[in-house]
Amino acid sequence: MEIDAAALKRKGFFQQAQKDKYSLRLCISGGTVSTGYLKKAIEIADAYGAGQIHVTTRQQLEIPYIAAENLDALQTLLSDANIRTFIGGPRVRTVVACLGAAVCKFGQIETGELVKAIHDTYFGRELPAKLKIALTGCKNNCAKVEANDIGIRGVNQGYVMYFGGCFGHETRVGKPLLPVLKEKDTVLRVIDYTVRFFERNAAKGERLGKLIDRIGSDAFKKAIEAAV
Ligand code: SF4
Repeated sequence: MEIDAAALKRKGFFQQAQKDKYSLRLCISGGTVSTGYLKKAIEIADAYGAGQIHVTTRQQLEIPYIAAENLDALQTLLSDANIRTFIGGPRVRTVVACLGAAVCKFGQIETGELVKAIHDTYFGRELPAKLKIALTGCKNNCAKVEANDIGIRGVNQGYVMYFGGCFGHETRVGKPLLPVLKEKDTVLRVIDYTVRFFERNAAKGERLGKLIDRIGSDAFKKAIEAAV
């Protein structure tokens, strides 16, 4: 059987070290799923995997040990059950977030609505390089937002946004380039300006932090300030 590993990766199936096995990443933004969703993931892991589910560092559920011959049947099941899968590569990734003020007593901002708005608008959008977004409800920074291309942290007066972070084979700490933002809609507008600017100006494979280094933080700041 001829297998296109790159095409499968775009659908959330990652070839394992064992070349005849695949690991399926489900699409979860904000780290919260319903119990119904979780039950479905358990069913899939039992029926197609090895009865294991791994929780990734970016709050995704990953089901390993899926045999190559079961990929077609599983893709049909996912489509029928309307279960979205993770999309890797040069795209907007799933949003990482803590539960924020809705649940946590330290929370300064609601995170759920923002996660949904960001995910519904940008998840999977094609870009010159990957773009990771994270939200955290307060200064405790459980979601480690400065390690993301765009980070949002709640403070008692509103939202602090960080730009240009990444954490992997290169590490870069995102910088706060704007004053504290008071409104959620302003945060969404700044994200929109940032995504569009990145889309127009980044070279292939160039993360936001590298782009900011290349053009200078003043030029980047000027480009997004109009959103405030
Ligand atoms: S970052 Fe703050 S609000 Fe979010 S979980 Fe941690 S302590 Fe709670």
